[in-house]
Amino acid sequence: MTSPTDFLDEELAALREQGLYNTIRHLEGPQGASLSIGGRSVLNFCSNNYLGLANDPRMVAAATAALERYGVGPGAVRTIAGTMTIHDELEQRLAAFKGVEAAISLQSGFTANLGTIAALVGEGDAVVSDELNHASIVDGVRLTKASRSIYRHADVDDLARALGEARDAGARRVLVITDGVFSMDGDLAPLDRIVETAEAHGAMTMVDDAHGEGVLGRGGRGIVDHFGLHGRVDVEVGTMSKAFGAVGGYVAGSARLIEWLSQRARPFLFSSAVTPPDVAACIAAVGILEQSTDLVDRLWANAARFKEAMRGAGFDLGHSETPITPVMLGDVALARELSRRLFDEEGVFAQAIGFPTVPRGKARIRVMVSAAHSPTDLDRAAEAFARVGASLGVV
Ligand SMILES: *Cc1c(COP(=O)(O)O)cnc(C)c1O
Repeated sequence: MTSPTDFLDEELAALREQGLYNTIRHLEGPQGASLSIGGRSVLNFCSNNYLGLANDPRMVAAATAALERYGVGPGAVRTIAGTMTIHDELEQRLAAFKGVEAAISLQSGFTANLGTIAALVGEGDAVVSDELNHASIVDGVRLTKASRSIYRHADVDDLARALGEARDAGARRVLVITDGVFSMDGDLAPLDRIVETAEAHGAMTMVDDAHGEGVLGRGGRGIVDHFGLHGRVDVEVGTMSKAFGAVGGYVAGSARLIEWLSQRARPFLFSSAVTPPDVAACIAAVGILEQSTDLVDRLWANAARFKEAMRGAGFDLGHSETPITPVMLGDVALARELSRRLFDEEGVFAQAIGFPTVPRGKARIRVMVSAAHSPTDLDRAAEAFARVGASLGVV
């Protein structure tokens, strides 16, 4: 008997053959510097939990209190069921933290990108996007009828070319979009020069600060603060699922932008809001960052310590400018083997990443350093890398 879904077996087999099949580890407890996997404790270098907030007792207490006051669910989309005051509070706190007029909370960073791009540009307009932008930006661009052009990664001259072409083609509105921090290499968009170039062409600028907030800028205020560009970046998209330790997305900007998104962003209009305990945890995270820069400072100190140890051991760390630490290996089979042996022999969980997430021949292990790691954790991990790396002839 054949079934119309038989192709799924073939496609899955093809993924396995090409080495593209994702195997997911099962965690038996919370996110933290170490994880419980298969009854074993392993050091964790895979999460975006930059500040260790995912299991912070202050976050848990805030979520618990909100659960008791507001319950578990938002009821329906906010435009229909009404919005809980806790969502309003998060938006006000985020706007103040980011130094903008207003913010709007969405379900995730992914939906924030999906909703925002199509609300800002349509037929007759143009989007100009960095070639390495996140999948949610790529998909967001697919949802608009605007014309699109891709510029070479972080290349401002190529951006200027694409902007000139958009104008020559008679585009009405033009939107430049870039990730702030590129998550596979840990490098920064040259946002100051991108903004200048966009301004010179009368284009809007949108930055996705998912890996920058809680990491870059004063006290983790993000990439716009890092470059001192307040008031010059039209749209900031963010996530609450990385440094902020919870879940949810948001857009920050002018009051009129946020008002427009509350009328026109489709994920806002057609998908329910994040739950009250999530929102309370997000508010607590903003409060923790406003109170002290300790966690952000520790994150950077930890990243510096780990990178120094790894460079000392002879590893190539690419061109990272952030705590994202790619250990460049080139060959995907080698990256997988190093990752597997680190896990099995050394109790160090660090994921190998290959094509299509990164270009062919640029496979790596991406090490995510966190403020939650102790100096001993970092030294142990670097020693484990050196041992396994030496036995594989990498260093
Ligand atoms: C992680 C990430 C997202 C998605 O954020 P979620 O809140 O997890 O949906 C969007 N953009 C970039 C650049 C990211 O790194």
